[in-house]
Amino acid sequence: MQRMPVVFVGHGSPMNAIEDNDFSRSWKSVAERIPRPEVIISISAHWFTKGTKIMNEEAPKTIYDMYGFPKELYEIVYDSPGSPSFASIAKELISRETEYDNSWGIDHGTWSVLVHMYPKRDIPVFQISIDANAPPEVHYRMGRELKSLREKRALLFASGNVVHNLRLVDWHAGTKGFDWAYEFDDYIYENIVNKNHDNILKFEEMCDAAKYAVPTPDHFYPLLYALGASDEKDEVSAFNKSCELGSLTMTGYLWE
Ligand code: ZN
Repeated sequence: MQRMPVVFVGHGSPMNAIEDNDFSRSWKSVAERIPRPEVIISISAHWFTKGTKIMNEEAPKTIYDMYGFPKELYEIVYDSPGSPSFASIAKELISRETEYDNSWGIDHGTWSVLVHMYPKRDIPVFQISIDANAPPEVHYRMGRELKSLREKRALLFASGNVVHNLRLVDWHAGTKGFDWAYEFDDYIYENIVNKNHDNILKFEEMCDAAKYAVPTPDHFYPLLYALGASDEKDEVSAFNKSCELGSLTMTGYLWE
């Protein structure tokens, strides 16, 4: 039986939701290339919480967790159904303590990409939060624990950015990156392609550029869930491998 791939996307600016650009086009082509999922389990950088939360609403609301963008963005409604049944299976698979929490909704880390991948909004989606206090190994392990859902046609969809430093954004840099941004993005790329996951979990001590590339781990940790859910049988490919505004990288990965 065919199992579902795992995907990590670098979501970048919320504006990508309404733009037809290289990023949004490659998200669309990922969706066209992979089997249609039964459900999408999203790990978004923007649901960064104390403890691990799981949403289990029948109809999760759309959250506008960004400020100062054009009105069009606040008019997007990603009203696909939720999946209380898959949420309950996920909750059972995760060995650490988790709780249901429907105070959040589908945030822009999720919808700014899914509007391109699955514009019909007919595939159930729910999110699992990222525990801000858990170390890298714990996020990786949760990904591993969720891996069996791939056999149930669940798409593990992780959304963040490998390099994400808003404080050092250079609005004039266009598609150029700082040296440390390329260095860190390449470090992660090499270790993903060579399946050296330990080097990724130890990113802080192994790669000096990490202190600029990952000043806070919210956008990096989603990658660890995707890595955890991948294994030796997967072939991995990268897409959107590029920099934006100096201090962001848009690199995404597909394990299939
Ligand atoms: Zn973000």
